[in-house]
This record gives sequence, C-alpha cells and structure tokens, in this order.
Amino acid sequence: EVRVRFAPSPTGHLHIGGARSALFNYLFARAQGGKFIVRIEDTDQARNIQEATDKLLDSLKWLGLEWDESTDIGGPHGPYRSMERVDIYTSYINQLIEAGWAYYCYMTAEELEAEREAQLARGEMPKYSGRDRNLTKEDREAYEAKGLKPVVRFKVPTGETVVIDDVVRGHVSFDTDGIGDFVICRSDGVPTYNFAVVIDDHLMEISHVVRGEEHLSNAPRQALIYKAFGWEPPRFAHASLILNPDGQKMSKRDETIMQFVEQYRDYGYLPEALVNFLALLGWSPGGEEELFTMDELIEQFSLERVSKAPAIFDTNKLAWMNNQYVKDADLDRLTELALPHLQQAGLVSDSLNEDDYAWVKELVSLYQEQMHYAGEIVELSGLFFKDELAYDEEAKEVLGWDNVGPVLRHFREELLALEAFTPEAVKQATKATQKATGQKGKQLFMPIRVAVSGQTHGPELPRAIHLLGRDVVAARLEQAAA
Ligand code: GLU
Repeated sequence: EVRVRFAPSPTGHLHIGGARSALFNYLFARAQGGKFIVRIEDTDQARNIQEATDKLLDSLKWLGLEWDESTDIGGPHGPYRSMERVDIYTSYINQLIEAGWAYYCYMTAEELEAEREAQLARGEMPKYSGRDRNLTKEDREAYEAKGLKPVVRFKVPTGETVVIDDVVRGHVSFDTDGIGDFVICRSDGVPTYNFAVVIDDHLMEISHVVRGEEHLSNAPRQALIYKAFGWEPPRFAHASLILNPDGQKMSKRDETIMQFVEQYRDYGYLPEALVNFLALLGWSPGGEEELFTMDELIEQFSLERVSKAPAIFDTNKLAWMNNQYVKDADLDRLTELALPHLQQAGLVSDSLNEDDYAWVKELVSLYQEQMHYAGEIVELSGLFFKDELAYDEEAKEVLGWDNVGPVLRHFREELLALEAFTPEAVKQATKATQKATGQKGKQLFMPIRVAVSGQTHGPELPRAIHLLGRDVVAARLEQAAA
C-alpha cells in the first residue's frame, strides 16, 4: 500500500517549496489509491506549536490537499507530532546503544570547536573525531561527576558506501567516511530530526519519502539508521530544487519572490491556479498542455516524471496562469476576494448596502478578464476612485487632436439628455455623437476614453461610463473639452 507523508516543521508558514512537496505527496497518494499523512516535526521548535500547526493545516486545506491522518483527525499510527513521541524515540535510542550502534558523547561545545579548528588547520574536512566511541563505565562516571550531560551519537561505519536508490535520481552513492558520527539525541533527551524521521517513517509504514533535494544529503544518514535496526527503508524520491526567477537558490531574505502560500492567498490568488503552477515545478506530464485541474493532475501524476533539473519559480508565468483561472472564476467568489482589498485601500466602505455591493461586483466584472489576482483590482480600477484624473502621456497626445472639443461636448449633451443611464443607452449616445459630429472609430472613441479614464486603454467603455455615474462622467468630459 502506498503511504506517503508531508512532514513540516511548524514554523507557522507554508513555504512554496514545502507546498510543492506536500502536493507531490498528495497527488501520488491519490493517484495510487494510497494514504496521505501530515506529520508535524517539532523537535527543533519550541514555541507556538499549536498555532503554527493550525496555520499550516489551514494553508494545506486552502490548497485542497486533504489528508487521511494527522494531528487534528488522528489515525492508526499516531500521535502525529514528534514531541508527543519522545518516549517512543527514547526506547529506540536505547536499543541502538545496547546493540553498539550508538554511544554517549560528552564533548563540550568548546572541545568540538577546538577539534574542528585543528582539522581545518590541517586542511581536513571537519568531522567529529569519534573521541567518545569507546568510553568505559568509569570514563562516563567521571564525566557525569563533572556535571556533563551527554548527547547520543550514531556510530557511522568506516569505509562503506551507502547507495540510495532514488526514484528521481537513480543510484546515488555516499562514502561513509565523509559522514561523522552524528547526533541522534540531544543532551535534553530530545532526538534530532534525522533520527526521529526514521522511527516515524518506519512505524507509520511510510512507503515513499517524497521531498526536496535539500534533504538528499540526509538520506544516507537515515539509510544507515534503517540498516542498524534491520528495517527496510522506504523508497526515496528527491524532487529538484526550486530556484528564484533569477535562477538563484532561494534564500530566506529573497525579495524576488513571495515565499509563502499565505502571501498568495492574501493577494487573492486562486488555490487551483497555485496548485496547477506548483505541480509543474519539477514535474510534467509531457506534452504542451499547461492547465490542469486537481483531478487531471491526480490522473496524470507519476514519480517517474518528476525531474531532477532545478525548477525556476517564474512569477510571470504564475500571474498568467492565475489570470487563466480568474477569467473562468465565479463572479461572486471573485468579488468576495477583491472586496477586502478595495476596503483596505480605503476605496470602498467597510459596510456596504446591497446597491454598493452590486456596484463592486460590476467593477470586478469589468476587470475580470485583465486581473492577474484579485488584489490587483486596486491598481486596475484607479480611475473609479480619483477626484482629479491624471492623463498619461498618450492620453495627453489624444487630447491635442482638434476634434476633441466637439466630440466631448456633444457626447456630454447626449449623456445628459438620456432618460435611463444604462450601458445600452450610453452606446446609443455614442452613436448619436458619431452622427452629429461625423467622427467615427478611433477618432470618436479615443477622446471619450481618454476624457473618462485618463488612459488610452482600459475597460469596456459603456459599462465603465455607466458604473462611474452620469455626474462624474459629465464633469470629466467638460474638463477634458476645456
Ligand atoms: N521536517 C523536515 C522539513 O521540514 C521534513 C523533511 C522530510 O521530509 O524528511 O524539512
């Protein structure tokens, strides 16, 4: 049975790299009729675990990645949070110590640092020397008497090769001589990630470990622990790194990109677009098609088509893709997403009556084709919220044409004479202006567009004019004609 897991540390934010790993695991589980588990790995985290976990789970849910077992719904292999499993880890640590695979180490931070410096000075790769590998009972008692608390280290065999049979990368070999005896349990009794992850993956019967390339170097350490216990390791699949749009490795302070799923949600990206985009970061079904629903992704996903070549996080492509989904989105849903942005910008009141709401909905509809994400409504719709229009350069040029005065004045008269001020009536007023002035096409529409919006391009004119309202439009026409 396929059982896979996403195992985030509860930092409170779902990083896009983590989201991509979660998605690949989810797609693989669903494609194989297996189980998708979310496990919280908090051995390195001290504070706000519950809040951070809730946020992570919220973000996964927002993306539509429903899990089968986790901290909130439980499951047959719980608990699903590392710090609730410390007793389990301790018994396995003790097993390794008894079997001679692990030992107590009393080296202090200062001693370790001195050892490291000496190795560097000799031009060696720094690596724990193994000083405490063979302590006697008396040695230990002497250290304890000094008040030193030991860590537990794993005894890495010398002169061996560990081969990881990775679904994505094939056979990857590691020389054990490059790996020092690593810490599996800290002096406070809490195991390290590399140890806990093995115990958890084994006990939770994880069949495949699908995660990012940054964890490839952990795989040999984990493989050694499986071997020490005589356990069959899961299949590993290390997906490619995700690079920022400049092709650089992402760093925490990278400003070329929004790094967290919550940021995309807050800007009004649609989860189905983000899922579609993340799926194509290091996976492709082959072929030219780029737009896939979750069901289509599930149908087509396989680990064999996950690539080891680095994937570039192309923000323009994401904007394009989100626009594809925005165009098809339900208008009510889009309005709900756009409204808070208009309110936060102070453009629309916080309490709307039905008419106000209908107005906002019409505004959103007017920009639906253009919008890359719902929050973009604020910058797109500026012409609706300005007392004084600023004409851009091209607009100023149009206002220099000699037919501008007559066209605008006449159009204004027509608008003021309309009985019902509807988009259809506005169209009629435009036609009447054409007849009366003899201007048509660009000569007719450009002056009107520029006068009304300050720009030579923009939303559908009759609807925009209707939405602006007769008084505002009449005033703008008058000003531009002057
Ligand atoms: N807790 C690890 C992380 O957040 C999980 C790594 C793994 O999937 O093994 O990176």
